[in-house]
Amino acid sequence: MTVNEKRRPLIIAGPCSVESREQTLATSRALASCAQVDMIRGGIWKPRTSPACFQGVGEIGLRWLSEAKQETGLPFGVEVANARHVEAALRAGADMVWIGARTTGNPFSVQEVADALRGSRVMVLVKNGQMPDTEIWAGAVERIAGADIPPENIILLHRGFAQTSSEFRNPPLWHIALEMRRRFPSLKMLCDPSHICGSRERIASIAQKAADLSYDGLFIESHIDPDSALSDAAQQVTPARLCEILSGIKWRSEDAVAPDFENRLERLRLEIDQIDCQLFSLFSQRMKIADEIGRIKRENDVTILQRKRWEELVVNLLGRAKELGLSAEFMKAVLNAVHMESIAHQNEVMNSDI
Ligand code: PEP
Ligand code: MN
Repeated sequence: MTVNEKRRPLIIAGPCSVESREQTLATSRALASCAQVDMIRGGIWKPRTSPACFQGVGEIGLRWLSEAKQETGLPFGVEVANARHVEAALRAGADMVWIGARTTGNPFSVQEVADALRGSRVMVLVKNGQMPDTEIWAGAVERIAGADIPPENIILLHRGFAQTSSEFRNPPLWHIALEMRRRFPSLKMLCDPSHICGSRERIASIAQKAADLSYDGLFIESHIDPDSALSDAAQQVTPARLCEILSGIKWRSEDAVAPDFENRLERLRLEIDQIDCQLFSLFSQRMKIADEIGRIKRENDVTILQRKRWEELVVNLLGRAKELGLSAEFMKAVLNAVHMESIAHQNEVMNSDI
């Protein structure tokens, strides 16, 4: 496929926390010298899990950010979680505010923020909530849109979802983000690889993945001296490193460039559609067999779940993951879903007259 790198992403970068005037100015200057950065982010009220952690510098940070804006020409935005935050940000001439993951999950707070923003012309970024709940994210967007913020100023921001065991701090759930795109086709969507990864190493690959999924840009944490950062030190990168990461990302065009591009793609998509149809016919056949097994178990009065057999089946199938070119995580997720559906079928058969 021909690569067209003309798609121009929106890049918002800056420190997790604004810490001092010097840190804000030095970081902003360095980011401004990377021509790809469009806007500065900086947290001044920090929604930290523990009250013992750095809580942010508060309103004085707005003064430093607006000084940096005057010097560099780069617009800036801060996180807001209540009406007082919004009013202070608007007074200070913020160009953007974002609603953080902890706030999105709370409709009272989102409504308060929306009411305080009513009619304003700032850009409003709505992060997904911490829980993988499409409805709560969608509801937050609807509250902002309901406050007369025009769609071109509302941006979806995917920062991953809290999960107990994962190699990521907040694993991305691309299907939820893509579902939000489907529901709100006129809104732009950015990805926040910093809070997804929780460490510097995989930021570039998550950013590339977002570019490949047609995201409109990135929201990345960058600090002049990441190791000494007062919050999220492990995931912040220097402006120079950020510039390097951004230069390495390919923003491929979504549109056809080669003449036979659509044809080739269409043929492969038809093939995929056919395979999906076959997969579900096979699932249906499998469930009919599960029903039959349910009837036999019922006649013989044995439980639905026969753990040993299921464990053997999982181990055997996962042993083939490499040969099949599939990840063990994917196979486990599919097997779990199939198993739950099987159990539901057998439950229906066994308890049909209860
Ligand atoms: C942040 O962007 O600094 C932040 C607190 O992020 P999140 O709400 O995604 O945890
Ligand atoms: Mn952070």
